[in-house]
Amino acid sequence: MSRKPPDLDKLATGIEAGERASLARAITLAESTRPDHRAAANALLARLLPRTGSAIRVGISGPPGAGKSTMIEKLGVDLCAKGHRVAVLAIDPSSTVRGGSILGDKTRMGELANHPDAFVRPTPSSGALGGVHDRTREALLLCEAAGFDIVIVETVGVGQSETAVSRLVDTLVVLLIAGAGDELQGIKKGVLEVADIVAINKADGDNKMRARRARKDFRAALHLVRPRSQHWSPPVLLASAMESTGLDELWAKVLEHRSLLQSIDVFDDKRESQRVDAMWHAVERGLMARLRRDPDAQAVARDVLDEVKSRNLTPGVAAQRIMDAFAPDD
Ligand code: GDP
Repeated sequence: MSRKPPDLDKLATGIEAGERASLARAITLAESTRPDHRAAANALLARLLPRTGSAIRVGISGPPGAGKSTMIEKLGVDLCAKGHRVAVLAIDPSSTVRGGSILGDKTRMGELANHPDAFVRPTPSSGALGGVHDRTREALLLCEAAGFDIVIVETVGVGQSETAVSRLVDTLVVLLIAGAGDELQGIKKGVLEVADIVAINKADGDNKMRARRARKDFRAALHLVRPRSQHWSPPVLLASAMESTGLDELWAKVLEHRSLLQSIDVFDDKRESQRVDAMWHAVERGLMARLRRDPDAQAVARDVLDEVKSRNLTPGVAAQRIMDAFAPDD
C-alpha cells in the first residue's frame, strides 16, 4: 500500500455503494500493521459500523482436499442465483503476506469470484491465529457494510483454526470426507466440539457407501462430545459438491441453526461476546505492536534471547524481564 494516506471518504462511499474494488482496498488497509493504516482502518470501521451486523455469517472448515472451495463455489453461485450477495473470506494458513499461497491459485472459485454479486478474498494468516481473527473479523464487517448479506469464512482445518473461526461466525460447518480405515483418526475432538453442522463431502460414485459409514461413525462420535447446547445437536449430513447434492439441505440447516439461536435468545449474546472477544484481541495485538516498537523492551529482548536459546534463562523469566522493561511496576 502506498505511503499516501488513504482517502477515507472515498473508500467509505465506495463501500456504501457496494463497490468491490473499494471493499478490497479497505480490507488491505485493515490487514496492514502500520500504525497510521490501523488508525485509518479503525476510523473507517467506526463510520461503517451502523451498516454491519445483519449478514448470515457462516464458517466452513475442513482438512485440505475435503472439497471446501468446490462446495463454497457451488453454494455461493446457488445463493447468488437466489438474489443474495455472497462474500467469501478464505483464511490461508500456508501463506504469508508476500509468500506462496495455496489459495493464490487464480482458478480457485473462479466462477464465483467472477460473479457480479460475489466477492472472494484470500486472507494471508502469517502464522498467527490471533492476527487472523482480528483481520478476518474486520474484513467480515467491511463485507457487510458493502451489502453482502452472506459472508462465508473458509478455514483449512488444523484443529485450532476451527476454534478461532467459531468465534467469528454464527454457524460453523465442518466439512469432512470418508477416509480409509478409521474415520476418526486425525480428527481432533476439539473440531467436533465446535462444529454446529458436520457435512461429509464426496458422497458420490463408489464413495457413497463409505460416506454413509462415516456418517454413522461421526454421529456416534458426536454423541460422545459434551453438547454445547441442549437445543441443538449437530447434524451429520452427506453431500457431493461435485454433483451438487446435499447443498440445499446443508443451507437449510444453516438457516435452521440461525433461527434456533434467535428463537432461544442466544444470537445476540453470541454476537455480543464475539465483540468483547474482538476487543481483547485488539488490545493484545496493540500491546504487542507497542512492545515491538519500545526501545527498552527491544534492548532487553536482544539481551535475553541468547540466554533463552542456550538454556541459561527460562522463557518465563526472560519474558518477565522484557515486560518489566516495557512497563516497569511502580
Ligand atoms: P479444499 O482443499 O477443501 O478446498 O478442496 P477442493 O475443493 O480444492 O477439492 C479437492 C479435490 O476434491 C478436487 O480435485 C475436487 O475436484 C475434488 N472434489 C471436491 N468436491 C468433491 C465431491 O463432492 N466429490 C468428488 N468426487 N470430488 C470432489
